[in-house]
Amino acid sequence: MDYQGNIFRPPSEAYSILLQVTTGCSHNKCTFCGMYKGSRFTIKDDATIMADIDFAARHCRRQNRLFLCDGDALIIPQKRLVAILSAIKEKLPWIERVSSYANTKSIKMKSAEQLEELRQLGLTLAYMGLESGDDVTLKTINKGADSAQMIEMGRKIKAAGIKLSITVLLGIAAKERSQIHATETGRVLSAIDPEFVGALSLMLTPNTPAYHEHVEGKRYLPGPQEMLEELGTMLAATHLSQGLFHANHASNYLPIKARLPEEKEQTLAMINAALGGKVNLKPEYMRAL
Ligand code: SF4
Repeated sequence: MDYQGNIFRPPSEAYSILLQVTTGCSHNKCTFCGMYKGSRFTIKDDATIMADIDFAARHCRRQNRLFLCDGDALIIPQKRLVAILSAIKEKLPWIERVSSYANTKSIKMKSAEQLEELRQLGLTLAYMGLESGDDVTLKTINKGADSAQMIEMGRKIKAAGIKLSITVLLGIAAKERSQIHATETGRVLSAIDPEFVGALSLMLTPNTPAYHEHVEGKRYLPGPQEMLEELGTMLAATHLSQGLFHANHASNYLPIKARLPEEKEQTLAMINAALGGKVNLKPEYMRAL
């Protein structure tokens, strides 16, 4: 397979075929994100992508999921994306789920009919980085969309029958707006009602503006207790009709996995127990991105 630069994928795609169709991120301006800094966004040429699909057809017969990397595969023009998904369907018929990252810009560029067409060709899951539902925070981190746009685009994906997994970031609003961020994120998640929510805890990386703001004392990252309080407030404010809220990423201090709405109260009780010192938190040295 042809891989260029660092490859990133959601934790739930650990066993998927990783088909790199773009390099970098089409936005690449979020102040906390160092994933694609220094990488230029490109859509890979069709011949390379098709050769990788042929390779996967010969060598990846045991993997039944496929993830389209990198940053934002949904931004590929419809005709080319249809050709890629059609080739996957034809040459890898054992694939049960194709997924990709999606951001508000790329979702906006697709019509409802185009998204429906992609779903029919096998794209059944999209990962969207919300990070926060707080408009002040979204602006500060240069996310490129406000909460109303996030809600609109998240609902658009769901209306096309594509499942949605949303990532939120504990700690992203710094100490000052920690609780507002938690409440507002719960509001936006409830309005979108995704199938999956993944909460990560922010870990600052040195090649990002957010890291420099922290070391220069402009915005301070909340500590473990405050992040846990944030998680509790966020979960309490999140009302899903049926969804999985998990915070079991390696960056989190307390792993949780709650099926909503039924497991919400017991999970909140566990968070409260941890806040009261009755459940051990993950030590700092064991956290990872
Ligand atoms: S967080 Fe996502 S959208 Fe923002 S720069 Fe990183 S990859 Fe791109």
